[in-house]
Amino acid sequence: MASRLRPVLAPALRILPRTAAARVSSAAAISARRSLSLKSFFTSRKPATSDPFTSQFEPVLEQADLFHPLSKSPLAPVRAKADWIAAHGTCPVCKEQDSHSHSHSEISEAAETEKSKSKSKPPTYECPDCGYPTHCSEEHYKMDKEHHKHVCGTLREVNEDEHDLRSGRRMKEFEFPGAQHRDEAVNLSNWDTFLYTRGFLSMNSERSMRHVSHVLTYPLTIGSVLHQSSPYQLGKDLTVEGLKSLAALRHTLHPAMIPGITQSQDLRSTATHTVRIFCLGARAESHLPPHIYMQLAYLFPTTAFQIHFVGPDAIPPHTKSTESHQHVHYEQMTFVYDNSRYESYHAEAGPFNPYYDVFFLFSPGLAHPSTKDMWKPTIPLLLDTKCAIFGTGFDERDVMNDVAEIENAGYELDWLMKPRENVFRSLKHEINMTDVRQSAQCNWGIWGIRGRRYDVRPSDQ
Ligand SMILES: [Zn+2]
Ligand SMILES: [Zn+2]
Repeated sequence: MASRLRPVLAPALRILPRTAAARVSSAAAISARRSLSLKSFFTSRKPATSDPFTSQFEPVLEQADLFHPLSKSPLAPVRAKADWIAAHGTCPVCKEQDSHSHSHSEISEAAETEKSKSKSKPPTYECPDCGYPTHCSEEHYKMDKEHHKHVCGTLREVNEDEHDLRSGRRMKEFEFPGAQHRDEAVNLSNWDTFLYTRGFLSMNSERSMRHVSHVLTYPLTIGSVLHQSSPYQLGKDLTVEGLKSLAALRHTLHPAMIPGITQSQDLRSTATHTVRIFCLGARAESHLPPHIYMQLAYLFPTTAFQIHFVGPDAIPPHTKSTESHQHVHYEQMTFVYDNSRYESYHAEAGPFNPYYDVFFLFSPGLAHPSTKDMWKPTIPLLLDTKCAIFGTGFDERDVMNDVAEIENAGYELDWLMKPRENVFRSLKHEINMTDVRQSAQCNWGIWGIRGRRYDVRPSDQ
């Protein structure tokens, strides 16, 4: 894995979304705290011209007209992005020149960063091929073109995808299928087979795949780990302990079908078990509309779910309420949103049972300076439950930093799933707007752990 290490992501990708950034409308892109998450599209408080789920408006952009330099975009939120990059971004050539001029000086790293910021000119020159403001001037752009061409294609793709999402066209790919017939088998090998076997419509372009994978990555990351048709196999991805933990959960999730009862379409009335999924440090995953999570529920038609989103940024979608604890019921799912610290929530939510409870930490930043301390009291509590704990990261380095943090802490734990690429990662690249050379993918990688269990064995003597 190490050979594919991405460049270091600027801290912005980690820091930005920790507060309620996703609650603000996309017009607030000028704010320095803007979330990089696409979820801000879906939680806009503005009239829903930019909400692809409810868009009923005349298209403002044709499909042949999706490429625009950011500053010349017909869409205000995209123009705002150009302003934001000009205010907070970096010209890589200026940055390079600056670091050279300081390389022999004795000043501290922090002071150097401060100084280089003041010397660099803002990136206001837009690459004609991707439309992103990448450099301070055409001159610096031309000097750096060899480097830029490695990211230009991704930036172009993101540019067109963003215009497409806000184009006002009918987003047929977001018209998701309902419950599957009990005889139909879902294939979770990858996005393609999942979407095909579940009967998703209009998935005939990579762009549609990127849009849909970006909203479904949270429920499908959970579903693909837990399901008996999981793409993760013993020996390759799962350890023996991993298989044991998942076997316990699958015992609950896939009860034997009872003829005449479990074939009913009324899922809630036939749900015989409740599985609790705890998403800790929840941010974007809590802002998704409940119907998105139904795609998880449809994978387990006889199970009722409680999804607990816990953390200061766990907020139901489309709400004006500022209550710190809220419940939303949706078919066989109950969503709990709680802003308390996990330590206090843990005491209330217990006791925990490895057959019914599982934890997911989506891009937790266990090793990141701004979030590291927050997790320190939490991890031992989770390990103590002996329930399975899965985590994700937005790129390889992010995953490996979290993994190293866990290993170095000396916890008594077993690995359930070795860190690896997540089959159901978002296919959409998110650009780091403070340095557009860097991008990441939501839930790029995944790993799993559990507090160590000691089997009681009869003594030999
Ligand atoms: Zn420059
Ligand atoms: Zn370019």
